[in-house]
Amino acid sequence: MTRKCPQCKKPASLDVDNDHRPFCSERCQLIDLGSWLDGDYTISGDKADTDGAPDRRNQNLLE
Ligand SMILES: [Zn+2]
Repeated sequence: MTRKCPQCKKPASLDVDNDHRPFCSERCQLIDLGSWLDGDYTISGDKADTDGAPDRRNQNLLE
């Protein structure tokens, strides 16, 4: 079974042996992850709220 890769639109296997599904390859998976980290998908506006939560979580991990 194949489906179009969300990143490059090539056919991507959805079999369990494809560790990167629904992407066709690790490269496309990493590109998508990079888009998340760059903030392409985050909703801007309430920045103080989104900045505060990770800081509190990091402090808990350090203690
Ligand atoms: Zn791809």
